[in-house]
Amino acid sequence: MNITSLRRKIERQVHTNSSSLVPDILKSGFSCARCGWCCRRNFDIKITDEISRPSNAISIFPSDIRRIMKTTGLTWNEVAKPDIYSCFSDEDTILVIGWILNRNDLNTCVFYKNGGCTIYSCRPMICRCYPFFMGEEGIEIMHCRGLGKEADNENAAEIGLALKRFEIKKLQSYIRIMEQMGDKLNIATMMTLPEKYSGDVFVFDGESISMCKP
Ligand code: SF4
Ligand code: SF4
Repeated sequence: MNITSLRRKIERQVHTNSSSLVPDILKSGFSCARCGWCCRRNFDIKITDEISRPSNAISIFPSDIRRIMKTTGLTWNEVAKPDIYSCFSDEDTILVIGWILNRNDLNTCVFYKNGGCTIYSCRPMICRCYPFFMGEEGIEIMHCRGLGKEADNENAAEIGLALKRFEIKKLQSYIRIMEQMGDKLNIATMMTLPEKYSGDVFVFDGESISMCKP
């Protein structure tokens, strides 16, 4: 993955009409059952020998965090924490790529309460797209309990647009983070933050570099 290929992907997405995604979304028969399955930690995904990422380690953009803060009145740290599964050690400093939604003691998203998402209207872009992702060959569908039902056109069109916007934003964010980190970015040395680590970390999120506690 390099900046030129990411720019090419962005260009491709910009010229994709989101309505072309609608047939696949409709075919899946998706209608969210609000079961909260995707908000809980159901399994871990092995990224490298060093990194196992919980299924609900949900990466969010700074703009997602600001939107949730504005709607809920919560602080940045109440919404998100550094992505402890995307870290690098740089001598005695820990560098982190981006933010994830906070989870509670049961490892569920802190916003999933009483059987529903309590920030539904301002939920992160990635949650608006779930269970759909843009793969190399088109739409991919993750595990979801809301598939195989009666899908509606308007909802499918909304998801198609959300997917296109999310993909472009994600790729732009990758480029900015690569530019921010420069030579320090070495995917081969990526790791999960050691459990007992209590020092500060530096979070690179494509907008700014923040020093904070993990
Ligand atoms: S997107 Fe799917 S898994 Fe997530 S809450 Fe809706 S039905 Fe459940
Ligand atoms: S923000 Fe809402 S939809 Fe997203 S993981 Fe949390 S509870 Fe689920």
